[in-house]
Amino acid sequence: MNNCIFCKIINKEIPSNIVYEDDKFLAFLDIAKATNGHTILIPKKHVKNVLECDDETLGEMMIIAKKIATNLITKLGAEGCNILTNCNEVAGQTCFHFHIHIIPRYNDLDGFEPHFTDNKNKELSVDEILNKIR
Ligand code: AMP
Ligand code: ZN
Repeated sequence: MNNCIFCKIINKEIPSNIVYEDDKFLAFLDIAKATNGHTILIPKKHVKNVLECDDETLGEMMIIAKKIATNLITKLGAEGCNILTNCNEVAGQTCFHFHIHIIPRYNDLDGFEPHFTDNKNKELSVDEILNKIR
């Protein structure tokens, strides 16, 4: 895609700090790291988000994400990681070329703070939700 910043990174039109590359995928350091080693993994084929990614590519990508995460944790001395993708603007997606964030975690003050608020009493009940989705 012409205007896609991640396609430009793939085509080496703009620089990046490459962590991993093969014929189908590229991983590079996030320009605004949440923690040391925060890596972005992308498919070279432009798709907008995880829901538009074909199953085979997605499967291969998760295996690579696991390898990158293991390497980051080992080499950087992290204790764990968050592996996540933001799908669409409502979920915080700002670059609309599918990518997986791999964020090494060192401690709970390391700069990344995923937050799950307990909203169990908000809007739909458990039964209402299950009736809709099952
Ligand atoms: P998201 O909000 O999930 O779409 O994440 C996009 C991520 O891409 C952000 O964490 C940005 O810091 C990162 N990013 C944007 N532009 C670049 C770039 N040129 N090089 C590396 N990372 C980038
Ligand atoms: Zn793209």
